[in-house]
Amino acid sequence: MDSGLLAAIVGTAGAGLGTAGGAWWRGHTSVRTAARLVYAELTRDSAAVVYFRMTGHWAAPALPRVAWDAHGEAIARRRNSASFESVHRGYEALEIIPALADDTIDEYVRDQLLREPVNWLLGAIKELGKIAKVSPEQIRETTQRLNGPYTAAGRLALSPKFRTGVIPLSLQERIAVMGTEIWQVSESSQSTSRPPKPRSAARTVKSGTLQVIYDAKNRKSEFVVARTTGDSATGDAAVDETYEALAAITDYCKTVLERDQLLPKPLCAVVHYAVKENNAWWDGEQVIVGDGDEETFGRFSQSLDLIAHTVWHSLDEVQSFGYFGESGALNESFCDVFGLLVKQHRYAHLAAETDWVFGRGLLMPERTGIGLRSLREPGSAYDDDLLGKDSQPAHMDGYVRTGRDNGGVHINSGIPNHSFYLLAVDLGGYAWERAGRIWWDALVGEEGRKDLKFTDWARRTVAAAASRYGEDGEEHRAVIASWEGVGVPITTDD
Ligand SMILES: [Zn+2]
Repeated sequence: MDSGLLAAIVGTAGAGLGTAGGAWWRGHTSVRTAARLVYAELTRDSAAVVYFRMTGHWAAPALPRVAWDAHGEAIARRRNSASFESVHRGYEALEIIPALADDTIDEYVRDQLLREPVNWLLGAIKELGKIAKVSPEQIRETTQRLNGPYTAAGRLALSPKFRTGVIPLSLQERIAVMGTEIWQVSESSQSTSRPPKPRSAARTVKSGTLQVIYDAKNRKSEFVVARTTGDSATGDAAVDETYEALAAITDYCKTVLERDQLLPKPLCAVVHYAVKENNAWWDGEQVIVGDGDEETFGRFSQSLDLIAHTVWHSLDEVQSFGYFGESGALNESFCDVFGLLVKQHRYAHLAAETDWVFGRGLLMPERTGIGLRSLREPGSAYDDDLLGKDSQPAHMDGYVRTGRDNGGVHINSGIPNHSFYLLAVDLGGYAWERAGRIWWDALVGEEGRKDLKFTDWARRTVAAAASRYGEDGEEHRAVIASWEGVGVPITTDD
């Protein structure tokens, strides 16, 4: 984009509105017309914001607010203070965003600071679009562009779906940069068709239902019940594997956590979602399970730990940790740890004998890798032409500071993951018994905090071990050693 050209276009439009004709126009313009002019200005300006989010460069000089200055009064005449406020905020965003185009600002910090003003701008465009009666499709197109994801330039804005998908963003970026078309995530995240709410769907099945599997039949809506509690196997691998996975989660809750169900409602999942969907995620109500493209990934239902990982994201205790930086990496790590514990429990694997590979069996044979992550040896799960190399650190020395992947949540989770591995192997036996119990106590014992650091979490697990198994006992000492092993110091204050 040529910034001079942009300035010229914007400048010309501004000059036109300042003429005597403009003065007449101001006096007689209707609210709807005013909204159209202001909408046009905001959407035009949002193109500069999109360019900035894609490239990190600000191409335009200071953005004008000519239409708003001229027609804000007409919007105000509507006497709807919420819409006035929202449009005003949109312009405020356009003053803040260019200020962030400063090379001295850390990319990580900038991504954080961008979120709020971009949301304001989105809110203003939606509000104005409504008043101006712009078609919903056009509004959606503009807001989607502003929201990303910006795979073309290797920069990605995060849609809600990325937050809970099991595939790390580094892989998604890698595949996007390689120019393949196999990644369907952004498309399905913006799908407007909502899956059925499990609560209402569950009413159609008998009481005592613990899990329900829906079949999407490769669509994104109109799911049908394929198997529910007590039904026998269907012969459809995705349905049956997902059913068994949800049943294993419920069994883990009952026998290990002594909790009837993980959630106060049946666990639900949708299989055969869309075509060649290369991800699995918790959509807020249920697990969505992709079939995989069978080039990079196979059926996501093959991996019990992976299904359990997505379900663990639904827990309030896990969500209270937020999804950014160290706190977000802890969030990811809980889901990996408990995902694997559900699998180890299901197959009675001993800590010393299990492979500690998360997502084993998911990669197609053509890919060079054993799974998505390794808790025993973070950074060793794959090294492949298409996927790149697993970049997880196992120690604080390798902590990756980045604005991508929500501050590296799928990368730095390698550190608490490895700490759990060290603890489990040190204590021996079954990992879900003592190591898993300590992690669970620490998770549900105190409220999560969105700014929780690894050191805070380490202190909580040490306290949990001391309170359940006694001060200076084997477990207490083993937890301290497990954090030393990954370079996280134990502090005394939260
Ligand atoms: Zn996750």
